[in-house]
Amino acid sequence: MSAPSNQRRTALICGITGQDGCYLAAHLLGLGYRVVGTSRDAAPARLGGLRQLGIDQRVVIEPASLAEAEPLVTLIERERPETIYHLAGQSSVAASFDQPAETFESIATSTLLLLEAVRTATNPPRLFVAGSSEIFGTRQTAPVTCRSRLDPQNPYALAKTTAFRIVQQYRREHGLFACTGVLFNHDSPLRPARFVTQKIVAGACAIAAGHQQELRLGDLSMQRDWGWAPEYVVAMQQMLSRDTPEDFILATGRPHRLEEFVAAAFAAVGLDWRDHVVRDERFVRPRDGSHPLASVTETTERLGWTATVQLPELVRRMVAARQSDDATSLTRAA
Ligand code: NDP
Repeated sequence: MSAPSNQRRTALICGITGQDGCYLAAHLLGLGYRVVGTSRDAAPARLGGLRQLGIDQRVVIEPASLAEAEPLVTLIERERPETIYHLAGQSSVAASFDQPAETFESIATSTLLLLEAVRTATNPPRLFVAGSSEIFGTRQTAPVTCRSRLDPQNPYALAKTTAFRIVQQYRREHGLFACTGVLFNHDSPLRPARFVTQKIVAGACAIAAGHQQELRLGDLSMQRDWGWAPEYVVAMQQMLSRDTPEDFILATGRPHRLEEFVAAAFAAVGLDWRDHVVRDERFVRPRDGSHPLASVTETTERLGWTATVQLPELVRRMVAARQSDDATSLTRAA
């Protein structure tokens, strides 16, 4: 483990092995930061995303679960990070119904513990916390901003809502530089396979390659705002580089139906999705309505960040990465 140097600024990423953690690590290394990241288990199998980006040897991995205060305090005192990014936690809405306690602890309690560790640090670092559009629920009719009514409708949303409010409370009461990026969906080739977007991309590629006949999906009418993950981590860093801490919506501002995602994925492999996709009631989630429209005006004007990759391009990139991975696996197997 390398000791913090006086010359290089250190950034701590909690949840570095996840999609956003990997891209953020690459971005911060590019900016000259020394990057330290936490993982519950620093086993090599967990570091696949970092390896894919070619940076697994350039970051320091610290085993930490964020479930206890003391190790966090020790880590922050030892590494003296300038900035901390809290991207760790159970990140699936569907799984949160089965694991409500773990979801709450890994999202809300961990945020509270991190804020306390920051508050009591000798040199309090700046803190970014990953929020979620799920805090707004599915019943809002007007475009949402960070001041919109919160209406969490599942255990994941409830945990994110709590974390969002705790960050605001600490900012107000203790004057900390802490803020939440209210993240709408964002994807990339590093999105875990359990998410429907990756299932669609994998399914379209497998059908095009003749390995699979059909793809079974639930409700295709629900709307989401999908962006390109590598762009979102740039916004996270920008939020910690401002003069004052403020929460921002991170979204494209252009929602699409899941059907459009499916159509784009099949089009990218030269197929018509209607010939291959079968509706399967087992995958319909009754409480999984459409997300509200994101207002991105403040983000554009005050943060100076805009998502530039829109859905068709995002899907093309995911499909191309999947096809390239599949081709590499076939070459290895031959
Ligand atoms: P990922 O699921 O890819 O990564 C999250 C990381 O958190 C994992 O790599 C894992 O690291 C750690 N983690 C997972 N479960 C737990 C748990 N129960 N307790 C503690 N740590 C856990 O998420 P993303 O990178 O996609 O998202 C980053 C953040 O942004 C998350 O907080 C997510 O909720 C939020 N967000 C993401 C959106 C998206 O579209 N991607 C949309 C809205 C919000 P390890 O196993 O190494 O410990």
